[in-house]
Amino acid sequence: MASLPLLAALLIKGAAAPDAKKLRRLMRTMLSGLKVNSLGGLAHEIDTCSKCPRLREHCQQVAQTKRRAYLDWDYWGKPVPSFGSPSARLLIVGLAPGAHGANRTGRMFTGDSSGDFLYSALHAAGFASQPTSVSRNDGLLLQDAYITAAAHCAPPGNKPTPAELATCREFLTREVRLLPEVRVAVVLGRIAHENYLRAAGLRPSDYPFGHGRQHALPAMTLLCSYHPSQQNTSTRKLTREMLLDVFREARRLIHFSGTLASGNSV
Ligand code: SF4
Repeated sequence: MASLPLLAALLIKGAAAPDAKKLRRLMRTMLSGLKVNSLGGLAHEIDTCSKCPRLREHCQQVAQTKRRAYLDWDYWGKPVPSFGSPSARLLIVGLAPGAHGANRTGRMFTGDSSGDFLYSALHAAGFASQPTSVSRNDGLLLQDAYITAAAHCAPPGNKPTPAELATCREFLTREVRLLPEVRVAVVLGRIAHENYLRAAGLRPSDYPFGHGRQHALPAMTLLCSYHPSQQNTSTRKLTREMLLDVFREARRLIHFSGTLASGNSV
C-alpha cells in the first residue's frame, strides 16, 4: 500500500504531469489498504465476498424464488455484514443469516422469528433501542453491542460445511481484533461457540459449551447460550426468560468488567 506521504508526493508530481489513471489506481490501492483495517472496510469485503460458491448460489436462488409472504420484497440475496457499534463491549455471535430473514432484509437477525426473539431480549437488557427488527430502515440501533455470525451467507438447511465455516472465519478473526472494547462475548449455539473460540486463537475443547455456561478468557468473559432458532424456541429448549438471563448477566459482567472462573452457570 502506498503511504500517505508517498501518495502526497505522487499527487504533487501528478499535478505537474497528470496521469489520472495512475493516480486513481494509487488512490484505490491506498483506500483498500485502509479498508482492511476498519470495520467499515470489512463490511464492504463481506458484502462483496464470493469465496463459497455453494452458499452464494443458495442465497441468490432463495432471493429469486422467495417465500410467498415476501413476494413483494427485493431480497438482499448475498453475504450479510455484521451490525452494531464499533466500540461495543458486548459481542454476539450467531450461526448464519436466515434464508428469509437476514438474507431477505440484509441485516443480521432481521425479519424472522429468531430475530424477534433475540432483539426482544436485547431490548429488555438495554442493548437495543427497540424490541423489533423488521428491515434495515426500521430505526433499530444497538447500544454497546455488535452482532456477527460464524458464516455470513445463508446456508442450505442452516448448515454451513466445516470448510465454509473455516473460510468465513477469516472475517470473524479480523472482527475480534477490530473490537478492542469487547468485555463479553455471547455465543448463540455450539457452532458459533466453536468458531468464535477458533477465531480468538483458542481451543474449543478447553471451553465446553452448555447453555448458561461462562468461561473466563483473556480480559473478557465468554457466555454460552442456545441459539434462538425456531426449533429451540418453539420446543421451549430456549425460553425468552433464559435468553434474557444471559443478556442480563452480560450486562452485569460488563458493568463490573470482570471475568469469572470457568464452569459457572448463570
Ligand atoms: S460464507 Fe463468508 S466466506 Fe463464504 S461467501 Fe459468504 S461471506 Fe464469503
